[in-house]
Amino acid sequence: RKVIDIAGDDFGMRDPSWLSRFGNATRLATHYRRGRVVLAGDAAHQHYPTGGVGMNVGFQDAFNLGWKLAATIDGWASDGLLDTYHSDRYPVGEQLMEHSRAQTYLFHAFTPEGLALRDLLSRMVPESREFSDFLAGRLTALDVAYPSTDPTAHPVTGTRAPDLPLTGTEGTLFAALRADSYVLLDLTADGALSGRAQERITVHGGAPDPSRDAWEDVRAALIRPDGHVAWAWTEEDDTKLAAQVDAVVTTALGR
Ligand SMILES: Cc1cc2nc3c(=O)[nH]c(=O)nc-3n(C[C@H](O)[C@H](O)[C@H](O)COP(=O)(O)OP(=O)(O)OC[C@H]3O[C@@H](n4cnc5c(N)ncnc54)[C@H](O)[C@@H]3O)c2cc1C
Repeated sequence: RKVIDIAGDDFGMRDPSWLSRFGNATRLATHYRRGRVVLAGDAAHQHYPTGGVGMNVGFQDAFNLGWKLAATIDGWASDGLLDTYHSDRYPVGEQLMEHSRAQTYLFHAFTPEGLALRDLLSRMVPESREFSDFLAGRLTALDVAYPSTDPTAHPVTGTRAPDLPLTGTEGTLFAALRADSYVLLDLTADGALSGRAQERITVHGGAPDPSRDAWEDVRAALIRPDGHVAWAWTEEDDTKLAAQVDAVVTTALGR
């Protein structure tokens, strides 16, 4: 009946074997963590299912939280690591609310003004590379970054590290990621950081990806278990670089 009301035809649909209903309860929890209670997935954020990203964002919550919970339970988490679950993921939830609200509005925009806005935005997708890249980044979540509060942090800090090929192995960075340790990426030409492996830190040599401008001056990077950049260094003096790395690694491992 509803389909006929909307489309003028029921397209031959008969005798459904399963029906479900959903509403538009756009809600975001104010805190993702309170003490021993953590929220993830639809328990933290619910929205109209536009864009088809709800489950994916929930998976990413779990991915962000999992290694932090494990590190806390195993006793190697830095101070406040578990709280970064909220500071990392809550802004992503806010963006999700904004994005799904905007899409919901466009879906139901049947006024002449609403239809004009939808047509205009639809045309912008193929015509503006920047606009379509923005939408693609948002929908795929490849644009998700957890920026540092430190103003001196390198711009790649918090972004998802690229899957750089590693030297001395057939593998790439993503294959080297482990839930229970950081990866120290040594991008110096002479492997200046190769001796710095320790418990919870694996060291891999690599080469900066020339197609990624932001990585051009990076000589070393500490990669979190979930593939995001915890810290990046540009120091050109190897001795100073090693000292800077040691200081950050010590803090990251709560030592
Ligand atoms: C029509 C529709 C289309 C969608 N399409 C997409 C899509 O294309 N892509 C996408 O990424 N997402 C999509 N989503 C969103 C996605 O379905 C949800 O974001 C996702 O299922 C949430 O997973 P969750 O594990 O957080 O919660 P849920 O899937 O709701 O799981 C919670 C579970 O907890 C159980 N439970 C509740 N209370 C208790 C209790 N007291 N004790 C024990 N168990 C309990 C429930 O029975 C349920 O099994 C869509 C949603 C809808 C409604």
